[in-house]
Amino acid sequence: MPAGGHTTVIQRILERRAARVSVEETTATIAVMLRVVPPPRALLVCQDAAVRQQLERRITPDMLDYESLADEHEGLRRFDGEFFPVVVTDSLQMVRQLRARTAVRTPFVLYVAELDDAAEREAGLAAGADDCLARRASERELDARLGAARRIAELESVLRVTLAENRKLSATDDLTRVNSRRFFSKHFPREVERAARYGRALALILCDIDLFKGVNDTHGHACGDQILRQFAARLQHSLRRGVDWVARIGGEEFAIVLPETGYQPALDVARKVRAAIAQPPFTAEGKSVEMTASFGLCGLDRVPTGERRLAERVVKIADAALYRSKNAGRNRVTATMLNAPGD
Ligand code: GH3
Ligand code: MG
Ligand code: MG
Repeated sequence: MPAGGHTTVIQRILERRAARVSVEETTATIAVMLRVVPPPRALLVCQDAAVRQQLERRITPDMLDYESLADEHEGLRRFDGEFFPVVVTDSLQMVRQLRARTAVRTPFVLYVAELDDAAEREAGLAAGADDCLARRASERELDARLGAARRIAELESVLRVTLAENRKLSATDDLTRVNSRRFFSKHFPREVERAARYGRALALILCDIDLFKGVNDTHGHACGDQILRQFAARLQHSLRRGVDWVARIGGEEFAIVLPETGYQPALDVARKVRAAIAQPPFTAEGKSVEMTASFGLCGLDRVPTGERRLAERVVKIADAALYRSKNAGRNRVTATMLNAPGD
């Protein structure tokens, strides 16, 4: 996915949430989360003993959960061993070193300048500090700046938790509105168990769009996204409503679950879906784009009971069949029948 891809996804999630949830509700949720998060971890690295002691005196445990060191090398070692969302230091070298690190998370850096002059503060900011404080700053100023550092660290942690939870909980794929990969992982094994319990048939079709990278390269990612949406819609239109279901399990990979469907009827469905994708061409951003997809089917006329990890095995078999379709030239269906033992 190109660099902009994640931003688009996040924007979409936020826009959709904003449309549904009132501003007050969101504000209240954030307020609760902020209240319950523990104070952020902070690393104090001050060579100047007087400054260090002054900071240690002012920082209460409910403001920042800090560790205090004098030596910048030791400070960097400590930082590399554990991420601290806030770093307070009087070492410009430490600020530079922290900013040179290319980790995913970056700390809020508060630089304590030697003198209370503009040139020094400027040097701190230019080295990568987020804020600057003079050594002789009043206690009120110190409290206010530490408070701002704390607020930013807390908001970042709330945002991280919220995004991770959103992603985890979502049963629907954001782009195509079909079921998510998470939904598939949870519910496909349940379908298998249910079919086994009643000795019923079940089929799984995996499909992967052919040469989709080329579509993005030629027509752009936005056009690719539109085609993905239409692709998912075409899949759903080719299936029995309310019985068969579709999940997007990868970027351009989908799973089709056909409950109570034996091998031969499932093969007919797969062929029908393949044809419905290949014709007519897709239309996105005013352009007509021919698309095909490859399919792998695993069908069981009677799902056996008592086989551990059967769902996993069915997915593997369908995936191997899909792989054969790709290798044989794409735009085709490869099917494997899985017999119950003793059949
Ligand atoms: P193959 O026939 O072998 O499957 O070729 P392919 O190009 O489809 O396969 P490959 O795995 O090389 O590339 C998959 C492409 O799908 C690359 C990636 O940019 C694109 N893709 C994955 N997710 C998305 C998405 O959400 N939106 C768009 N526009 N493209 C996506
Ligand atoms: Mg793929
Ligand atoms: Mg593909």
